[in-house]
Amino acid sequence: GLAERLQGTLKKIRGKGKVSEQDVKEMMREVRLALLEADVNFKVVKKFVADVKERAVGQEVMDSLTPGQQVIKVVNEELTKLMGGEQSKIATANKPPTVVMMVGLQGAGKTTTTGKLAHHLRKKHNRKPLMVAADIYRPAAIKQLETLGKQLDMPVFSLGDQVSPVEIAKQAIEKAKEEHHDYVLIDTAGRLHVDENLMSELDEIKEVTKPDEILLVIDAMTGQDAVNVAENFNERLGITGVVMTKLDGDTRGGAAISVKAVTGMPIKFAGMGEKTDALEPFHPERMASRILGMGDVLSLIEKAQTNVDEAKAKELERKMRNNDLTFDDFLDQLAQVKEMGPLDELLQMMPGAGKMKGLKNIQVDDKQIVHIEAIVKSMTKAEREEPALLNASRRRRIAKGSGRSIQEVNRLIKQFDEMKKMMKQMTGMTKGKKKGGFKM
Ligand code: GDP
Ligand code: MG
Repeated sequence: GLAERLQGTLKKIRGKGKVSEQDVKEMMREVRLALLEADVNFKVVKKFVADVKERAVGQEVMDSLTPGQQVIKVVNEELTKLMGGEQSKIATANKPPTVVMMVGLQGAGKTTTTGKLAHHLRKKHNRKPLMVAADIYRPAAIKQLETLGKQLDMPVFSLGDQVSPVEIAKQAIEKAKEEHHDYVLIDTAGRLHVDENLMSELDEIKEVTKPDEILLVIDAMTGQDAVNVAENFNERLGITGVVMTKLDGDTRGGAAISVKAVTGMPIKFAGMGEKTDALEPFHPERMASRILGMGDVLSLIEKAQTNVDEAKAKELERKMRNNDLTFDDFLDQLAQVKEMGPLDELLQMMPGAGKMKGLKNIQVDDKQIVHIEAIVKSMTKAEREEPALLNASRRRRIAKGSGRSIQEVNRLIKQFDEMKKMMKQMTGMTKGKKKGGFKM
């Protein structure tokens, strides 16, 4: 993937005590290819390469003590700039409710994202959103939103599929005012392609509702097409921001890198999975770090902090840094997994986690947590802190004590080892950062 290629390229230059123009040229040739292969718009690539080159052979880098690392810093900064620099927040109307239109092609993730956004607004911003079912064409679209509403315990405004979307939107805003909702999220219909019928309907809804935000939902998996769709919507309808969905999937990443540069519109949120809590504010800097293989410890810790109390999150962070994770922490983490969302989504944020296939398959349900708890509790304090002690006879004793099979005990110990290995990688990265460089 893009990350691997870029990391490989950057590794070569990282340790150099002296960087020549030729070195930079060679590196940028590879960076250019990696970006093109990741489906980044070619004009965007051209400008990016030129910008990095100019800075990388400049005084700022050549005069520094660690030119290799400085070059990488430049790449990171330019990549961040490309994706919009600062994080773009969702709009808030001076006079509530804030009206948000969710638009996009069929299957991009509008309805799912409407639910996720409602959840995010309530949980992170203490808002009281009203979701509006304005897709009257797709069979079961209304039902889909209503189901999400039930799941989230969040109201959904619907007038069935016999009333026009414009009328639905209009009445929904009235209702929101009466009931003091501060956000109205309108889930509109999509089409397979951008067409005139779709656009004129959206235009009408826009006319009537005067939205504060028109969020275009695009599917990262569709690469350049997603960027073209964004250009079309922006020209025809005018959008205020983008939600890039399915960034959890096996995407080449090109769309996320190009969309701001091509359309001028920022990515405001990233969809990272199908569940209702799998939506994250999009941070260009973190995304750049993720692409360059510096992991995304910040996102991870932020996510942890939402669900765990502050002190615990700090402690976890310290333990990750020091590679001090014990079986007790492991237990603690597992108990929180349900709150924090699927483990595989968390793991994706960690550097190098993609390579650890075994970890991706950990599925944790309540029953398993009880079993794991039983196993860990059958360990002595010393064993919990020092898994290397766990030889065959100790494992047998633990299996007996916990009432679980020896295979299960072995599996747990293996999973724990893998988790520690991963923490170690993160530690290496964090230490590198502290010194002001970028360790890969
Ligand atoms: P709509 O037609 O634009 O309303 O799209 P839907 O909200 O119905 O989503 C289409 C499919 O994409 C559904 O199966 C969703 O679960 C899935 N989906 C949406 N967002 C994401 C995401 O961020 N990650 C993943 N993996 N799937 C997503
Ligand atoms: Mg839909």
